[in-house]
Amino acid sequence: MAKHNITVLGAGFGGLELCTALSEALDDRADVTLIDKSDAFIFGYSKLDVLFGATTPQAVRLPYKEFVKPGVRICQQTVTAIDPVTRRVTTEGGVFESDVLVLALGADYDFDATPGLAESTEFYTLAGAARLGELLTRFHGGRVVIGVCGAPYKCPPAPSEAALLLHDYLSTRGVRSACEITLVLPLETPVPPSPETSKALIAAFAERDITFVADREVSSLDGGKKAVLDDGTELPFDLFFGVPKQRAPKVLELSGMTEDGYVHANPKTLQTRFPGVYAIGDCARQGTPKAGVFAEGAARTVASSIIADLLPNRAKVPHAGTGSCYIEFGGGRIGRVDIDFLSGPEPSGAYHAPSVELRADKERFGSSRRARWFGRAT
Ligand SMILES: Cc1cc2nc3c(=O)[nH]c(=O)nc-3n(C[C@H](O)[C@H](O)[C@H](O)COP(=O)(O)OP(=O)(O)OC[C@H]3O[C@@H](n4cnc5c(N)ncnc54)[C@H](O)[C@@H]3O)c2cc1C
Repeated sequence: MAKHNITVLGAGFGGLELCTALSEALDDRADVTLIDKSDAFIFGYSKLDVLFGATTPQAVRLPYKEFVKPGVRICQQTVTAIDPVTRRVTTEGGVFESDVLVLALGADYDFDATPGLAESTEFYTLAGAARLGELLTRFHGGRVVIGVCGAPYKCPPAPSEAALLLHDYLSTRGVRSACEITLVLPLETPVPPSPETSKALIAAFAERDITFVADREVSSLDGGKKAVLDDGTELPFDLFFGVPKQRAPKVLELSGMTEDGYVHANPKTLQTRFPGVYAIGDCARQGTPKAGVFAEGAARTVASSIIADLLPNRAKVPHAGTGSCYIEFGGGRIGRVDIDFLSGPEPSGAYHAPSVELRADKERFGSSRRARWFGRAT
């Protein structure tokens, strides 16, 4: 009998966890193909480390050649077309037929959606974080605006973390009193599912003289000198920390699978409306925000579903929509919020106050994934 063909598009948080779980359970009883256009994985939070000079872009890359799992073939190719009905995928290198297709392509940045952004600065790409980090070393005073250009966006706490870490960075350099920091979020509070976390962040902004503008987004950048918000407010700046608007990759839109910019998936099963096609993580509307930890949780559900279809006595595990987000508060301390999106009538989040101990927790989060996916000891 021919082996089951499983094609996974995108080797990010979702794709890596899914293929690891499939390999563990199925070994080589299925043919799993993992396709990604890049040659390395990068944790999203590493961009903050690069931005503030704690590490280099080269040091945070985890090369895919180190992702070695029985039964999984990884191909560095760009997906150019997807037929969701036949589950046929085309890349610049060939055509892939599949019995099961999983979309894990993440979210792309839509620079054109915000006039002036392409000519300005942002910290959501690795190259952008490195460039802004370089500019920061020569920044001795002035107005900084940290501005999000649209929701939903990846890792909702990341811009708040950037504001608090920037305060530390400028204080260490002795220039904080010569600077103003303004944070603009398209959210009413920094972490909406957890009022306690939001309260702690708002108090931290106030203590550090960081101006927080809630429920607004940056609509355009005027002449590289001021951010124009969606209510017309103008915020002049000397340095802009942009978070570009996001959407599912174009190839998903061209395949006719997106609605409102993303692929809709059943929040409990991650199945799309196309039989045998699942969507997980940032490219999907899967009932949770855009964060690696939620892409990973969705991947575990899809793995359980594929495995249960192939092996006897295996259960399909519904998507829980839970995950822990670590939040850098500055001063070497990290907070954590444990969020549950799907079990209650409303999302809820349990807050753990920032501490030095939680830094070790976050480091374990990274090192456990490096070990599980890339076989790295550290
Ligand atoms: C500054 C910052 C801080 C963050 N901090 C955290 C954090 O602390 N915790 C957390 O959980 N999350 C964090 N995130 C969010 C996290 O990085 C993303 O939510 C997560 O990576 C999403 O996982 P994914 O598998 O859906 O997509 P991704 O990890 O983005 O992977 C998608 C993959 O698809 C590939 N791809 C896209 N298009 C194509 C194509 N056409 N052909 C082939 N391959 C393609 C890409 O190369 C990519 O490797 C942060 C993000 C940022 C920017």
